[in-house]
Amino acid sequence: MTYTQILATLFLLFLLIAIFWRMFIKKSKSTHAPFPKAWKSILTQKVLFYQELSPPERIRFQQNLQSFLDKVRITGVGTEVDDVDKLLVGASAVIPLFGFPGWGYRTLNEVLLYDGTFNRDFETQQGEERNILGMVGGTGMTGTMILSKPSLHEGFDQYSNQHVGIHEFVHLLDRADGAADGIPEMMMQQPFLIPWVKMIHKEIKAIQDGASDIDDYGSTNEAEFFSVVSEYFFKSPRLLEKRHPELYGMLESIFRQDLKK
Ligand SMILES: [Zn+2]
Repeated sequence: MTYTQILATLFLLFLLIAIFWRMFIKKSKSTHAPFPKAWKSILTQKVLFYQELSPPERIRFQQNLQSFLDKVRITGVGTEVDDVDKLLVGASAVIPLFGFPGWGYRTLNEVLLYDGTFNRDFETQQGEERNILGMVGGTGMTGTMILSKPSLHEGFDQYSNQHVGIHEFVHLLDRADGAADGIPEMMMQQPFLIPWVKMIHKEIKAIQDGASDIDDYGSTNEAEFFSVVSEYFFKSPRLLEKRHPELYGMLESIFRQDLKK
C-alpha cells in the first residue's frame, strides 16, 4: 500500500467509528418516561422562560429537565418537597444551560431545600443574620446546593428582582473551570475573555458609585457579579438590553441565548 492508501484507509476507519459512535450515543439517549401533563401545566403557569419557547424548544426543555431530575436528588430539610418545588429547581438548572445542548452539572448530586433563608450556621428558625437565600459548594458540602424554598419560589415571580435558583446554578457554571472568578471559561471563546474582565470591573465600579441599577450584591466580587447579572439577564432581558446593551450582548454570547426577541 502506498502512503496515500494507508491514509485513506485510516480516514475511512475513523469515519466508520464516528458513525457507529453517533448511532450508539443516539440509541442510549431518550429513555425518558413521557413528560406528565400536570408538569407541563406547572411549567406553563410558573416559568416565563418556558412559556416563551417554541413548541420544539419546549420539548427539549422538558427532556433536559427530566435528565436533571434523574440525576440530582432534591431533599427537603424541615419542609416537604412536591412536584412544583422539584420543577422549579430543575427549571433553574436548565435555563442557564439551554444554549448548550447535552451539557449538565457533573459535580452536583443533591439540592437541599430549606424552609426559609438561613445563616452561616445553617439555622433557619433562630440565630442571627439569617439572610442567605442559597449556597453551593461551601466548606464540606461538595456536590450539594442549598436553596431556601420560599426564595426559590419568589425567584419565579416576575415582580421580584432576585432569582436564587439561577444565581446558584450560574455559580456552578463559573466554577466548572476550577475558579470562582466570574469568568466561565468553558462557555467562552478566547477573544471575549479580556473584554469581559474589563466590563466586569467597569460595571462593579458603577455599582459602587451608585450609578447602576444592578443589585448592590453584584459588587461583592467578580463571581457574585456574574451570578447577579445572570439573574437580571434571564429575568428581565429586554430591560437589561435597554439599559446595558454591551453587557446584554456579552451575556448573550456567553449563554448562547437571544432573549430580547
Ligand atoms: Zn452568590
